[in-house]
Amino acid sequence: MGQFEVIPLRAFADNYVWTIRDARCAAVVDPGDARPVLDYLDAQKLELVAILNTHHHADHVGGNAGLLGRWKAPVYGPHDERIREVTQQLADGARFTLPHFAIDFEVLEIPGHTRSHIAFHGGGMLFCGDTLFAAGCGRLFEGTPRQMHDSLARLMRLPDATRVYCGHEYTLSNIRFAKAADPENAALLELEAWARRRRDQGLPTLPSTIGQEKATNPFVRVREPAVVATANRYAGKPLQDPVSVLAAIREWKNSF
Ligand SMILES: [Zn+2]
Repeated sequence: MGQFEVIPLRAFADNYVWTIRDARCAAVVDPGDARPVLDYLDAQKLELVAILNTHHHADHVGGNAGLLGRWKAPVYGPHDERIREVTQQLADGARFTLPHFAIDFEVLEIPGHTRSHIAFHGGGMLFCGDTLFAAGCGRLFEGTPRQMHDSLARLMRLPDATRVYCGHEYTLSNIRFAKAADPENAALLELEAWARRRRDQGLPTLPSTIGQEKATNPFVRVREPAVVATANRYAGKPLQDPVSVLAAIREWKNSF
């Protein structure tokens, strides 16, 4: 594994196209829009060597075709016919080496936001699309609360120092809800102050880390008494298990 940087390219209102780059080449994760990627690669005189897709939503794959019209590159993604450009369909546990960068990635299937959502884990990094966000998680469009719970629990078993590259800049609005769901969590207040300074400077609040999520994310803290208590209050009854707690706070957040 050589020297590389990971750069956030902004797309649409709040998407990030995470771009792994060195002096000559780049690989992009979830290019929802080709334009900002083409502009950046042209300005930096970089050659595209790979595309990674975490899930089929248009704001994550809509730029595939435009980039492939310019460069011939492999597209790593899930088994899902809805992403037509994928050339390397990957199931849980699949491993591959990112061309040029020689980063070894392992694929984790993490259903919940969509049924075929995957994450890429390697080089101390996690690209997790719309499943795990800083202090939040994705909406359950195609999956169940149990699937989301199990997917998040699986990600939390990665090393604490793993850098977490999420698909959207949602941190401050997630924290607003997280403070309601986990009201006595001092780590959340610290994170909020830091995230506000970052946003005021026009900087991203990502990557997060697995350790930070364990400390601040109510959707992975569904066994914490404070989170269980607010979930019970929302549900109007005592919830018996972590999956029910996650289901309740996910529903609560949708209307928060
Ligand atoms: Zn999505």
